[in-house]
Parts: sequence; C-alpha cells; structure tokens
Amino acid sequence: MLIAPFKNEPFDLFDTDSAKADMQRVLKKVRSEFGQTYPLLINGERVQTEAKLVSTNPSNPAEIVGYTAKATTQHADAALEAAWAAFESWKRWSQEDRSRLMLKAAAVMRRRKRELEAWLVYEIGKNYVEASAEVAEMIDFTEYYARQAIKLVGGLGSLIDYAGEENESFYIPLGVGVTISPWNFPMALMAGMTVGAIVVGNTVVCKPAEDTVVSLAKIFDIFAEAGLPPGVVNYLPGTGREIGSYLVAHPKTRFVNFTGSLATGAQINESAAKLAEGQKWFKRVFLELGGKDAILVDETANLDDAATGVIQAAFGYSGQKCSACSRLIVVDSVYDALLDKVVEKAKELVVSEAKDNPGFGPVCNELQYKKVLSYIDIGHTEGKLLTGGKAVENAAGYLIEPTIFGDVSPRARIAQEEVFGPFVAAIRVKDFEEGLAVVNDTVYGLTGALFSNDRSRLERARRDFHVGNLYFNRKCTGALVGVQPFGGFNLTGTDTKTGGPDYLLQFLQMKAVAERL
Ligand code: NAD
Repeated sequence: MLIAPFKNEPFDLFDTDSAKADMQRVLKKVRSEFGQTYPLLINGERVQTEAKLVSTNPSNPAEIVGYTAKATTQHADAALEAAWAAFESWKRWSQEDRSRLMLKAAAVMRRRKRELEAWLVYEIGKNYVEASAEVAEMIDFTEYYARQAIKLVGGLGSLIDYAGEENESFYIPLGVGVTISPWNFPMALMAGMTVGAIVVGNTVVCKPAEDTVVSLAKIFDIFAEAGLPPGVVNYLPGTGREIGSYLVAHPKTRFVNFTGSLATGAQINESAAKLAEGQKWFKRVFLELGGKDAILVDETANLDDAATGVIQAAFGYSGQKCSACSRLIVVDSVYDALLDKVVEKAKELVVSEAKDNPGFGPVCNELQYKKVLSYIDIGHTEGKLLTGGKAVENAAGYLIEPTIFGDVSPRARIAQEEVFGPFVAAIRVKDFEEGLAVVNDTVYGLTGALFSNDRSRLERARRDFHVGNLYFNRKCTGALVGVQPFGGFNLTGTDTKTGGPDYLLQFLQMKAVAERL
C-alpha cells in the first residue's frame, strides 16, 4: 500500500479576524446543540440508560453541555463480550485494510475539525488555539499509527538462518484492551490510545473521563462513520470508581491503556496485577501519569526567551497539561531579573470564559478549582506570593489568576505535588549543578527544559536531566506526534512514548514458528 508520508496536521493560530469569526459562528451552532443526551456504544448499538452523566461548561457551570447514558457493570460485561467477538474477525483483517480505515477516520476528523474544536472550548474550557492544537494532535495520532502499523508487518529485523529449518516470526495482537482517559486532552488521548491498540488488530472498551463525555461521544460517532465494524470500539461513559475499576479488574481484560493521575494509575497497576478467577494471562498495563515538570534557567540564558517559554509552558490551558511547567528553578544571579520578567508577563494574561478566546480559561471542574485554591493556601505558608493568588472576581466559572510563588524550598509541598492549575513554584538555586539536583528531586519524570547557552551544561543535561521529554531553550509543552515521542520516567508511568515509532509494539506479541524441512 503506497500512502503519502506522514506530516503533522497544522493547527490554527486564530490570528486573523476571519478565523476568529469562523470559530464564533461554529461555537454558536454547537451551543444550539447543548442539552442533548448521547448513548453508550456497545457492539455497534447505541444504548440509552435511565441514569445519566451530566457535562457542564467550566466557564459557566450553570450551563449544561449535554448528558450521556451511564454504564453499569452489566454494560461493561456486554462491551467486553462484544469486543472479544469482534476481535475474532478484526484481527484477521489485512494490515492495509485496518490502516485505511484509520485514515478514513482521520479524514472525517479533519472535515469536522472546527466543530470538534468548539466542543472542546465549551466542555473543557480550552481557548481556540489550544482546542485546535488538540484536534490536530488527534488527527496526527490517527494518521501516524496507521502508517507505523504497516511498517510492523513482517517484523522489524531479520532472523538467523538455521540449517534444516524454516523459521519465521511475526506479530499478533493481544486481544481486548481497556482504554481509560483523563479530561485534559480528551480527544487526542482517547483517540491516540484507542487507535494505537486497534490499528494492529486489538479491540477495545473505552471509558472516558466524566467531564468529557460529550466531546468523546463525537469521536465515537466518527469511528462509526468511518466504518469500524461493530464491537471493535465500545464507548462506555461511567464513573471511574465503578466502571473503570471494574473493567481493569475483569478477567476478560487483556491490557489496560491508561492516562490520568498517579493515584489512579497506582491503583490500576495493583488491581491489574492480581489474577482474577478464570483469567488466562498477565495483563499488560500502560500508564501515563502526572508530572512536576521543571524549567531550569542558568546565568548564560537569554532571559526574555526563558520568560516567554515559562509563561507558555506554565499557563497554556491554565497549567492543566501533564507537561506544564510547575517548578521554575533559577540560578541565583539571574533569579530576580527573570522572575521580574515572568511576573510582568503573567500579569498581562487575560483570564476569562473560553468562548472569548482568552490567554487561558477556567480550570476543568469544581474539584480542580478547590484543589488549586487549596494549594494557593499552602503556598502562602511555603513561599512568597509574587502574583495572582486568588480566583478571578465575579466570574461565573472556575477562573483562577495565574499564580507564582517565589523562594520556595525544593522539598516544599508546592514544589513536590502536582497542582495541575495556573500555578508555579519558583526555586532559587546557587548554580547550575544545584539546579540539576533540584530538577531530579521528584518522584515524577515527564518533561523539563533547560535555558542555557553553555554547551557543556546542555550536554550534561542531555544525559542527566532525568525526564522522558527534555527541551533546550524552548518551552517544555507541545510535543508533536512523530517528532517528539512522548512519555515519562519514574512514577510518571511506563514511558509508552506515544506518537513514537515503538508505541504500537506494546499492543502486539511475537510468535515464532519453526518448521523442520
Ligand atoms: P484521574 O486519574 O482522576 O482520572 C483519569 C481517568 O481514570 C478517568 O476516566 C476516571 O474516571 C478514571 N478512573 C478514576 N478512578 C479509577 C479507578 N479506580 N479505576 C479505573 N479508572 C478510574 O485523572 P484526571 O484528573 O482525569 O487527569 C489529570 C491527570 O492526568 C493529571 O495527573 C495529569 O498529569 C495526567 N495526565 C498525564 C498525561 C501523560 O501523558 N503522562 C497526559 C494527560 C494527563
């Protein structure tokens, strides 16, 4: 099968009046569709339930974006059964045919791009550029994995010849997996985790985060529109505690592909390791968890570039990226100068309802809002407030000012625990060496950046700055599919490297066949 080489989907910067007007037109249209109820999808059938999940607009929580059916454990059993039945035929499809179907799904996503962006603006409070970047990333995952899967046919290397035998090895899929996604990149992460598994012949049951059930209902419509056979993907909105944990512990689950918090990931890891009655395999578990990502700035750095990188990485999408800069570690001799610049830029950021395309919008839900505000309380006891420090006054939604605490100790709670909001702990260090030690003094290991013009330090950091995704002289967010394979070390997870050339191997097992000649 000859297909054009992969290239990253461009995203819109909305720097023209016409692009902004187009988005506002679509936002209006999408708003007129608020309040609908979306079903579960099991074996290609749309299933409604009496109980519902409600999804609200974090910019204005009184506004209901939509409802979905709410799965029970019986639905989970039915979905797993449907996925195993579908696996029997899906695994026999040729790789070209499965990949072609994914390309079709990507084409539908591209056609419905603006509408999908608008749902993200309303349902999780992204500004226009962040929403556009997420939809582009989802398309990238789908296009990239479709191509990578074709490269795996026939294996990656050659075997040694052995006299008197014909030897062959090939990959086969694992079976039925469960994909569980967080709310912060609902479309890109769920689509990425799902397409990665199914494109090589597995089938899946998908449990979205409760706050994003409408956005994801759109994506599962797209999979159906692209022509995926019934049961290959099953969409099961429900609570994590009930449905998520049930699916993870289920003996019919072959693998779990999870992105979310460390606390949930640790529970999943433990639960999946237990052999349930009747279980015939060890479950594979892929975990992409939290971060406490650091930007280190030394005295040789361009401070204007560093300040820009910090602002983008710390406050883009209200700091609710696993890759967001939440620790700013600065060498003493430039600490004050850099912090002055960062604080000045933070004060310029406009925080408002996402539909108005601000610098950044709300945090995702009430729980998150209260959590960030409680870390601000802790911040007052652990550092010096440099800017922000409170909710935006008179706002209907979960809006919090960009907040920076200075002179924080490296072991303080706000320097160790993931806050996941517009919140930065700045740490003063004596020199680069001390800075590097502080960088690595965390249980996480996802992203990080060094701003420096000292070649030997850049090379030292290349080896010893212990994160899965390291950036020099740029922000630590915004990994691109195929360009920067993404995933972290330590308790950030199993370093799955999404969007990378090896990702799909995780959903395959190799069979070796020898025939005596
Ligand atoms: P979360 O762990 O609270 O929830 C994630 C998903 O797990 C949801 O669908 C939830 O319903 C489900 N869940 C909850 N309890 C469960 C259980 N016991 N068993 C099975 N499923 C369960 O995370 P969140 O608040 O939705 O997302 C934010 C977190 O995700 C942050 O920690 C962030 O750093 C992390 N994240 C990591 C990456 C990465 O690539 N490393 C990417 C995005 C987000």
